[in-house]
Amino acid sequence: MSSLAVDEGAINLGQGFPDEDGPEDIIAEATRAMLTGDNQYPPMMGISELRQAVANHNKRFYGLDVDWATEVMVTSGATEALADCFFGLLNPGDEVIVFEPAYDSYLPIIERAGASAVIVPLIPPNWQIPTERLVRAFGPKTKAVVINSPMNPTGKVFTAEELALIADLTISHDAYAICDEVYEHLVFDSIKHVPIMTLPGMRERTARIGSAGKTFSLTGWKIGYITASAEVMKGISRAHQYTTYTTAPGLQAGVAYGLGKPDSYFSDLAMDMQGKRDLICNGLSALGFEMAPCQGTYFVTGDFSGLPLEGTADDVCRKLTIDAKVATIPMGPFYSDGNGGNILRFCFCKKPEVLHEAIDRLATYFSNNAK
Ligand code: PMP
Repeated sequence: MSSLAVDEGAINLGQGFPDEDGPEDIIAEATRAMLTGDNQYPPMMGISELRQAVANHNKRFYGLDVDWATEVMVTSGATEALADCFFGLLNPGDEVIVFEPAYDSYLPIIERAGASAVIVPLIPPNWQIPTERLVRAFGPKTKAVVINSPMNPTGKVFTAEELALIADLTISHDAYAICDEVYEHLVFDSIKHVPIMTLPGMRERTARIGSAGKTFSLTGWKIGYITASAEVMKGISRAHQYTTYTTAPGLQAGVAYGLGKPDSYFSDLAMDMQGKRDLICNGLSALGFEMAPCQGTYFVTGDFSGLPLEGTADDVCRKLTIDAKVATIPMGPFYSDGNGGNILRFCFCKKPEVLHEAIDRLATYFSNNAK
């Protein structure tokens, strides 16, 4: 959809990246580190400044006591962190519980690790967990559950009750929780992000993954970090050793500095994104999309069944890109069977004027194509 968007001169609300760079002082700090000579292989686990910053961040926001030397590892983005967790913790024949719709890197890597995913589909439009189905999904072969909260593509933040249920099942099956928390600072409406790692009995069986790409709007830097007990980290760090081994040290220095920013930086980021969420949700519902609630991330989902649009979600996305000049993506790729129904994902981490222009273009398209 991104390349079609470029060909068609469409506004790209498909791919998830901000159209403005992150804080200049973080970029300046990375530049300073590079210019003063931090350009050779850094330690495999990451530079100590960043590991310390990740440990402090865990304490400041979630009250977690973390030993930076043994319980934090830096990776080349959350994508590598996820791969390290899957390769490092799973054995052939293991089962992993995955909620769908799911971020697209999970399934291929779980399968490459020789394990298989047991899918638990969330129920649209509110993306609730089907409790019975989740309970049945856990079994003797369950090795891990993947929790992505706040969740891409749905914008869902798992509730305290849902997290407690998942924690109970994870503990009773002696499994790991692999937590993709890259949107931890993009949570709206005064909801607090709660890492499942903070729940009783979960500290020793959780790998918590963060990403500077999302927290600092620097997605191209690909700096991720994992927090896990020293025991859990052993396997994960072995996978990292033979995957990328290290990550650009200057960028790590920039992120270490960024994680030390005052609380206001993090709350302003969420407030800014919440305003954009409101802008796009109001605009799209006024046009006739049935919007799902969105409590976090860069994304919101909307059902186009009530609109004069024909064909599959793929057809509709193509048509809107070509005819309305607004690109969005279907939900199919987030499902293992490829079927995401009549729901589209819209990315709203764009300048307000870009979001306004996208809504205007869609409004013009629908008024010209009313049935
Ligand atoms: N997990 C989720 C849910 C994401 O949305 C993304 C980025 N789109 C990632 C992981 C990957 O993060 P990174 O760019 O740090 O590899």
